[in-house]
Amino acid sequence: MTSDEMDDNEIDDEGRLHLAMVPTNRPCMSCGASGSNLQWRLSGRTYVLCRRCLSAFIEETNQSLGANDPVSSGYQAAEGDLYVHEVRPGWFNVHRYQGDAWEYVTVLQKPQADQLVAGLQLVGESQGIQGQRCYYREIVAPAQRNTPMMDAAEIALLLKAAIPIDDVDQMLAPGLSFIVIWIDISERPDLQVLAEKDGLADGYSICTYFYANPGKRNMRLGLRVEMRQPVHFVLPLVFKVSEYIDQLATMSEYGNFWVVPGPPPAHLVGST
Ligand SMILES: [Zn+2]
Repeated sequence: MTSDEMDDNEIDDEGRLHLAMVPTNRPCMSCGASGSNLQWRLSGRTYVLCRRCLSAFIEETNQSLGANDPVSSGYQAAEGDLYVHEVRPGWFNVHRYQGDAWEYVTVLQKPQADQLVAGLQLVGESQGIQGQRCYYREIVAPAQRNTPMMDAAEIALLLKAAIPIDDVDQMLAPGLSFIVIWIDISERPDLQVLAEKDGLADGYSICTYFYANPGKRNMRLGLRVEMRQPVHFVLPLVFKVSEYIDQLATMSEYGNFWVVPGPPPAHLVGST
């Protein structure tokens, strides 16, 4: 990946998105105004807006990132804290505080969100333009996380939030063997980027494996894919080991996998 293929944008400590812009004479994509407009790239796309439309866009973006939300007095974020934020009726975004920043984990519907916070301690609340956030902490202080190892609570969260897998297939070829994972993104509108052709071709991600019920017939192998560029999201996947043993062996041997929105094309179903 070369630097000009990446967005030069940054999100600061307070969650504000800073866009790297250049002047352009192209017309505003929103109101059509011509003249001295500004152009930038975001998630691999080019945008042109006049200054007035741009101000409205920045305000909206900052609000959606929560930059302006006041946090209730006395609350201090600690490593491993979660906050749950109702983004639209019945839908909750979950963020986790790790490495001194709030990272998006997943979106859950109310029953799953309730299940997630059951047994956690409510340690703060905030009321912002985008709605209420509730902050939670494990009742027993989590061990200091200096390694990417996951603790039991985090594994439980990922198992609950896992995205349904439609099918897993494998391609075996000399020098290039990989598995293809078809996932159901119907409940994850934020993952629509996966459906966009070449959207993530230059991206990079951090993958962490985890497991549940080791050595048992119902063993699950989990894979947490954290996409860092060009967009940021966390994709928790959980495989039934007994069902996908060959494909998982291929993935562990070659380290290559490809995640695409399902369902798989009919001619591939049952080909493994
Ligand atoms: Zn405009």
